[in-house]
Amino acid sequence: MNVHELIDAGAIFFCSHSGGKDSQAMYAYLRTIVPDHQIVVVHADLGEVEWQGVQDHIWSTVTHGVNVVRANKTLLGMVEQRGMWPSAAYRQCTSDLKRGPIMKFIRQYLKDRGLKLGVNCMGIRAEESAARAKKEPYRYNKAESCGHRDVWDWMPIFDWSTRQVFDYIRAVGQEPFWAYADGNERLSCVFCIMGSVNDLRHGAICNPELYRQYVELERKIGHTMFMKGKEPISLEEHTGIRLEDLERG
Ligand code: SF4
Repeated sequence: MNVHELIDAGAIFFCSHSGGKDSQAMYAYLRTIVPDHQIVVVHADLGEVEWQGVQDHIWSTVTHGVNVVRANKTLLGMVEQRGMWPSAAYRQCTSDLKRGPIMKFIRQYLKDRGLKLGVNCMGIRAEESAARAKKEPYRYNKAESCGHRDVWDWMPIFDWSTRQVFDYIRAVGQEPFWAYADGNERLSCVFCIMGSVNDLRHGAICNPELYRQYVELERKIGHTMFMKGKEPISLEEHTGIRLEDLERG
């Protein structure tokens, strides 16, 4: 089935909303093609590691309710337990803290209402990275489907440029989360294992207490979030921001 057939068949479109610009634009776009009663907004709450105020931002930019889901563990707890940070190749953080809880919500939502068709909508774009560009923007999700449930994965804004995303948000009369105007390029965890130095620095300046927790956790487990070539590099070296300098102001 294609997207239009799924809409006509009454499928539920689950809009995975991180609070970032791509989710915001995707939600606004979905509303132009999917009837409101077939859209459900879901946010995977990352707790202390996400930008404070991001959930308020989601609530203020959607006309639906926001279903907040949480994993039964935290990112920092997971890192401490494993003694390792996740890596781009092994993104246990995304699968355990976001994808897992959102898929669980989708399964339960459909089951509770006796519904069969679900579409997991994600604001992933090809332009973001070479790995993302290789993804299939629309596919039947075999692993999540079974005799009584059919689930598709869809990236509705896969081909959009960054400029298009910001323009679309403004065209619908909204603003992206404040951290973009303040200097952030992307938004999710304040300190993402794949974040740019720019975003990590900005995150540290805006969230010194959280920065301290990351720096101290690196020291405690003896494993760093980043590598410089083949050598580990501490978060402080990577960002060029020493904890004591930040705390001194
Ligand atoms: S934003 Fe980065 S660190 Fe946070 S869950 Fe996603 S990949 Fe992991």
